[in-house]
Formats: sequence, C-alpha cells, structure tokens
Amino acid sequence: MEIIPLDLRFRGVEKTIASYLVIGPQGPVLVECGPGSTLPNLIEELAKRGFKPDDVRHVLVTHIHLDHAGCLGWWANKGARVYVHEVGAPHIVQPENLLKSARRIYGDQLEPIFGDVLPARASQVQAVRGGDVLEVGGLRFEAIDTPGHAKHHHVFCLDGAAFTGDAAGVRLPGIPYIDVPAVPPEFDLPAWRKTFDILKSRDFEVLYPTHFGPVHDVSEHLEAFAEHVENASSFIHKEVEMGSERDPLIDRYVQWNRERSETLGVTPAVFDAYQSVNPMSMSVDGIRRYWTKQREQAKK
Ligand SMILES: [Zn+2]
Repeated sequence: MEIIPLDLRFRGVEKTIASYLVIGPQGPVLVECGPGSTLPNLIEELAKRGFKPDDVRHVLVTHIHLDHAGCLGWWANKGARVYVHEVGAPHIVQPENLLKSARRIYGDQLEPIFGDVLPARASQVQAVRGGDVLEVGGLRFEAIDTPGHAKHHHVFCLDGAAFTGDAAGVRLPGIPYIDVPAVPPEFDLPAWRKTFDILKSRDFEVLYPTHFGPVHDVSEHLEAFAEHVENASSFIHKEVEMGSERDPLIDRYVQWNRERSETLGVTPAVFDAYQSVNPMSMSVDGIRRYWTKQREQAKK
C-alpha cells in the first residue's frame, strides 16, 4: 500500500490542496478529489503515476466543502463509487443548497475559484456513518465522526494513518504554523474539543490533512492545533463581547496571526498561500457567528 499526495495547484498556488492517491492491492483509491477547477490538474497528476480516470473506482471525501469534494459528482458520473458522510450525501446528489451557502461566502467568485459542481448520480453515492468500515480497493478505511469544523465530517483511518480533512487544521508542508479553518455556519467549539480527544486517543502514526501533506509529529501537532483553536476562538469571543465591527475585527485577527506566523519563521508569501486556501475573513465569520449565537441563546 502506498499513499501519495497529489498537488492540485489550487488557484495556481503549489501544495495547498491535496487529493490523496492510495494505491491498494486492487488499484487506486482517492481520498478527497478537490474542486472542479483543479480537475485537469488531478487528472494530470494521476497520469504521472500511470492512472487514467477510469482506473479510479472509489473516491472517499472527508466532507462536502468544495475544496474537498467539489468535483465528486464528476467522478460519480464517470462510474466511480463515491463515499460521503450521510449528512453530506444528499447535497452531492442535489448540490443546490451547498452552492447557495458557498455563494454567500464567495459571491460571483464562486465559479472562477471552484469550477463546476455537478450533481452526482445517486446510485453511485454511498452514505457513510461514523464507525463504518469501508472495504474498498482491497483496503479497509474506518470512518470516524469528527464534527467541529463541520457537522458532516469524517476522518478516515487506514492502519496507522488518518486522513483528517480539516479536522486537524491547515498546515502547509515543512511549516510549523497551523491555521484554523472555520467556515460559517458550521464552527462548533465543544464538538471540536471532543474530536481532538478522539484523534489524540487513537495514537496515529501519521496524519494527512487535505491542506497539505503528511504530518509526522502527530501528538505535538494535535496539541498545538487544539490550543490554537482555543486561542483563536477566545480572541474572537472577546471582540464579540466588546461589540466589535466585522472589518476591523478581521484586520486585528489577520494581524495577530501574521505576528504568530512571523515568530514561527513563516514568510509573507507562505502566509498568503495559507490565506489562498483558507481566507482568514472566513474563519472570523465562522467563529464570530458561533459566539454571536451563543450570546443570543444565553439571553433567552
Ligand atoms: Zn472544510
């Protein structure tokens, strides 16, 4: 068995979104397929490893966000079996609501950034539940329910490896800086804390976050990321309590992260690469929405 990160070169930036090619005893399996806009790059990367799209019979996605699963419908319609969280599965067959919520974030940049999102043929879509073991391509993937970033999120375990999607953060190759992806309206702090406990308890040898590539210092990474989620969340919580406006809050959040990244030796270009795949304004919106809702509920 071999696991190869394929670089989808999202928005022309190297190594920000991976599709993982897992070569098992019965052929190739993909974990994550990326957006429609990078499908030609994915096909090119597969060709470099000697595979045609028709060779790929199984595609697993951690969750249905477009940077992970945007072209899943294309693969399903091509005849691959696609595996997706039971909550996300209906949105792969009928992507209207998924697109509506993505459009709220990206506006008219949605198509240029993410490309086509095709509805998947329902017969090709397998809804996956937490705890399911998927026997695909001669491999056994276990799905773990891992909410926090999104309700409809799985981490897939394969032996000592874990494909973590966004549940273990965004960390670009060779860089110690970890970023929080918190897309509105899904960020859920208590759920994410439980997810961290589950991930830590599993003693994985290696993590494969979609953004990007293998992480070998697993327990240090998970500790550092869990701590950063707490810090980012309380940074924004305080601002919400003070009644801060959105735009100046985003500026302060970006500045805080820029300083953090600089102390870790991150160059401005790498900082921008992080933002190209996970805009900080989006994380601010997600976490801000969470705390605003908490405050409204406390008043009731
Ligand atoms: Zn996501």
